[in-house]
Amino acid sequence: MVVTHGHVDNFGAAAELSRLTGAPIAGHIADFSICRAGGASAPYLPIGLFGRLFVRSARARETTEPFEPDLLIRGATRLSDLGVEARIMPTPGHTAGSVSVLTDHGDLVAGDLVATTFPGFGKRPANPPFHDDPLGNLAGLREMPALAPTKLHVGHGAPLNPEQVGRWAAAEQ
Ligand SMILES: [Zn+2]
Repeated sequence: MVVTHGHVDNFGAAAELSRLTGAPIAGHIADFSICRAGGASAPYLPIGLFGRLFVRSARARETTEPFEPDLLIRGATRLSDLGVEARIMPTPGHTAGSVSVLTDHGDLVAGDLVATTFPGFGKRPANPPFHDDPLGNLAGLREMPALAPTKLHVGHGAPLNPEQVGRWAAAEQ
């Protein structure tokens, strides 16, 4: 299992799933202390109205079962030795330890690098409610076409077309 970043809605089941399946967990060292504590000690940094409302709620301070990553990620990491034809790519910005997974078939599993608009508002790229470093995140998105992904899978919403996301990121910048 690859934990894309240290937000509880993205790693909340990691410890239990690892126990049930025996699968090792990979996570980036920059979000390690958050995963080890079961949640962030600092408040999320909202970038829109929903985020500003959400950080005032108790849900923003929820914690989960902590875990110790079996594989600490420090840079681009191939997963061939684990039987997966893919690589982990650091994509910091949403959090310092955000990573994406790029399969050899071109599927990019991107965590909260970008989100899809709420259902009913079309299938378009959108910012998630929080980014620790919004400009750093956009810089990562603008470099994404160099990875030549064919489909972008996000933590919140439907898969996106990478070219559409690239154009959106340039406009957001
Ligand atoms: Zn997140």
